[in-house]
Amino acid sequence: MNKDEKTRRIAVVGFGPRGLGALEALADCMADRDLALAVDMYDANAARGAGPNFDPDETPLCLLNIPNRDINIRPPGFSKLGGFTDWSGPDCDPDAFPPRAELGRYLRARSADLLGRDSPEITPVAGEVERITRDGSRWRIETAQGTSAVYDEVLLTLGQPPVSPDDQLAEWRDHAARTTARLAGAYPAKTLIGEAANWTGHTVAIRGIALSFFDVLRALTAAQNGSFEDGCYTPSGQEPARILPFSLDGKPPFPKPATEEIDAWFDPVDAETTAFETAMATASQSDPDTARHLITTALTPVASRILKTQGADPTGVSDWLDTEWSDPGSQETGDTFETLRHGIALAEGTAPLTIGYTLGQIWRKWQNQVRAGYNPATTPPDTAKIIVGFDEGMKRYSYGPPVSAAREMLAVIDAGLIDLDFAAGPDIDLTDEGWTLTSGAGTAEVSVMIDAVLPPPDPASVTAPLIRDLMDRGMLATIDEGLSANTAADGGLIDADGQDQPGLCLLGRLALGSVIAVDSLHDCFGEASRRWACGVCDRLSG
Ligand SMILES: Cc1cc2nc3c(=O)[nH]c(=O)nc-3n(C[C@H](O)[C@H](O)[C@H](O)COP(=O)(O)OP(=O)(O)OC[C@H]3O[C@@H](n4cnc5c(N)ncnc54)[C@H](O)[C@@H]3O)c2cc1C
Repeated sequence: MNKDEKTRRIAVVGFGPRGLGALEALADCMADRDLALAVDMYDANAARGAGPNFDPDETPLCLLNIPNRDINIRPPGFSKLGGFTDWSGPDCDPDAFPPRAELGRYLRARSADLLGRDSPEITPVAGEVERITRDGSRWRIETAQGTSAVYDEVLLTLGQPPVSPDDQLAEWRDHAARTTARLAGAYPAKTLIGEAANWTGHTVAIRGIALSFFDVLRALTAAQNGSFEDGCYTPSGQEPARILPFSLDGKPPFPKPATEEIDAWFDPVDAETTAFETAMATASQSDPDTARHLITTALTPVASRILKTQGADPTGVSDWLDTEWSDPGSQETGDTFETLRHGIALAEGTAPLTIGYTLGQIWRKWQNQVRAGYNPATTPPDTAKIIVGFDEGMKRYSYGPPVSAAREMLAVIDAGLIDLDFAAGPDIDLTDEGWTLTSGAGTAEVSVMIDAVLPPPDPASVTAPLIRDLMDRGMLATIDEGLSANTAADGGLIDADGQDQPGLCLLGRLALGSVIAVDSLHDCFGEASRRWACGVCDRLSG
């Protein structure tokens, strides 16, 4: 057999961080095997390895939600590049949260490193994949650009493809198309910054007070030449006159601990982590009540110990968890301003620890253990729903912003630009010029609405032709209502009849429920990618 006949062909669709992580794992796994692989990386986006969320050309005002000291995505052994902080240089502040664009430049460098290797042979293909069909025992890929090619293996790492808007957003889009009302998206932030230059003196509402909100706030303030210094905001005069953030409950997320020293308060000890690993693995294969009980039982003594050590009341952890399972977020009763101030004080270590904040930090530190227990298991759908729901709810703590972002919000409130009167679930009516927001505090007329809500990863609402087609033909099926695609432990897509489709795999957000804790850079370079890579090597070596 000559080299070309021996070479097996792989397509990876989506060259964001997860496509990069998968390919690095593949290069690593195939190193000690007699395998010749040629990989085509399909993506219309030019930011190789970075994807849209870490686009190197994006504004530096969009920050990563992980401090330098916690970024743990070292390249495989064959790479000479080193980790992100080595690459950033000696001035890298361990407590700082880097711009996502900076991280994107690092991921781009890692991609270039990989593309320079002889094995596997990698070819980037600038194209959008629209259709995947069986071709004998292989897979045919067709693109919107009219190309067609056949592969032994296909991996989909699509991130969050576009979805149809929720009812509220659909109504607003229609409204904005018919009137002078202006509806904008949060990203690309560079585009928003350009648009916001025209909103001086306007009243601008922002839907969503989660992580994207902080990017949007900087686009409306610092990017309009205002400045943050010593906890104060000095306006430039080019900002909107009034900024009205709102969400269903009006609560901002809790910032991460401000320093390494405070962060270390929440470190579980090894024995606690081992017990949690066992509990998580068993919970993932149990009925919902057992799963709840096992996870609660593993978390409770750890939180109690930490609360006690830090001089806070250690009682009531298990009751808190009981309520959190059924009614996430309901135990924090403060309004937007109180929650923001309290979150900053907790992150700075100046307020007595709360049960929620403590559990949230432990949960963050155990994200890898959560994945290790959950991802390889075949979790019963009802159990998957409650565990995924718990993880999503705890994100208000575990995926918190930098404390600097929370302080900036406070500074803009103090400067009189943010008005919180409408923050918690206002009534919203359409007007000829925009929207009217109504709350107990009165009404506000708004001419610009910014959507800062990330849609849920429901494949059924995705509008991209590739996913629509795979769903229509039963090749991609959801696990159950509220959960995403059904995949095996190595990412193999399971069809609507429950059958494996060897060689067709999917990793990432669109498989939420089959896997957990996907919205993190760390997951893109974790064990899920390695399991896929080993599966490919095993199948193609056979
Ligand atoms: C605004 C935002 C901020 C975030 N910030 C953080 C953060 O600070 N820290 C963190 O850990 N995580 C963050 N995340 C989570 C983030 O999604 C992941 O860390 C990471 O970006 C996921 O990478 P991915 O490769 O799965 O998806 P993406 O980066 O979205 O890449 C998917 C790629 O697939 C391509 N693609 C899709 N469909 C097709 C097709 N049909 N044909 C060809 N190509 C296709 C797209 O063009 C894209 O380049 C953030 C997410 C968002 C949305």
